[in-house]
Amino acid sequence: MEQRILNYLEEHKTEIIEDLKILVQAEASTSDIEELKEVREILTRIIADRTGLKVNEHKRDGGHNLLEFEIGTGSEKILLLGHYDTVHPVGTFKMHQEGSRLFGPGVYDMKSGILSAIWAVKAFHDLNIVPEKKLVFLFNGDEETGSKESRELICERAKDACAALICEPPAKNGDLKTGRKGVLGFTIDIKGKASHAGNAHQAGINAIEEMAHEILFIQGLTDYDRGTTLNVGVCEGGSKANVVPARAKLIVDCRYESREEGERIKDAIRNLKASVNGTERTVTVGSGRPPMPETDANMELFEIAHTCGERLGLNFSHQYVGGGSDGNFVADMGIPTLDGLGAYGDFAHSENEYLDLEQYIPRMALLASLLQRI
Ligand SMILES: [Zn+2]
Repeated sequence: MEQRILNYLEEHKTEIIEDLKILVQAEASTSDIEELKEVREILTRIIADRTGLKVNEHKRDGGHNLLEFEIGTGSEKILLLGHYDTVHPVGTFKMHQEGSRLFGPGVYDMKSGILSAIWAVKAFHDLNIVPEKKLVFLFNGDEETGSKESRELICERAKDACAALICEPPAKNGDLKTGRKGVLGFTIDIKGKASHAGNAHQAGINAIEEMAHEILFIQGLTDYDRGTTLNVGVCEGGSKANVVPARAKLIVDCRYESREEGERIKDAIRNLKASVNGTERTVTVGSGRPPMPETDANMELFEIAHTCGERLGLNFSHQYVGGGSDGNFVADMGIPTLDGLGAYGDFAHSENEYLDLEQYIPRMALLASLLQRI
């Protein structure tokens, strides 16, 4: 079966690359609401043209609608997830090709992965392969900023799934992702008291001085042995050099491996006692993503994928990574999850982002055969 699927996809490589270029040129970052709508229209058309399936659009107030379609009638269900937003604002990164490398916004993360899912369905259809399980495909448009508008539906659809496959890119050496750290975001607002730095220095309460203490404390919570990292990524504060600053703000990213560890870090940051007398602090914890532990069930999925890969002449391993995805949400529900089933390339989230066209079709065949072997 693997070889049949691979041959079929190789024969259709020109059309596949055409579809991919159309999708990549439909640029939209998560905040480009109007352009996201255009991406959905193009995606819906490609899905309809290639598979003949009807796409359901789930509206969201903020404009991050989800697209869903399904095939198969099996009693068991596989959920397949992808996102059509990118981190690149419209007009900042033009698609171009150098040899077998196609550069462009979202070409690797993860429009190629979405297209793999669509063409897997087309291959099944044209090769008369009937999926043994029901396959549900769900594409969201707000993954890059935490999937706030799509998380609920993703988890709803995952409830009765026997497996979840995530079409995010693999690691840069091609390894699949069997576990991911959890992600937490903190915003800390510090309030002091403004005063004339020359005439009334003592009357002021310096919010930046308090921030300085907090930065060192928070960075110090990093524990590489436990897999916990804290990064104070943004610090702001003050207005002028001759004013004791009344306000300061920190934005912090935390990665962690277990729920307990996440709670420990939350407590430590929430309950921190201010070092500078008179300052007030407000801690806001973002919704984040729970950890995706590398469970036996995830590893079983990986083993199936590895066998499919061998039949396709692909060799790859698996990794536990620090970056989060929507796989974290479904894995946290106990659903066996395998991530990194998109296409091969590198430099996601940068203007060097590219996809290796030479290795695209075999990865697409991997996803298709995995859908049938689970
Ligand atoms: Zn992604």
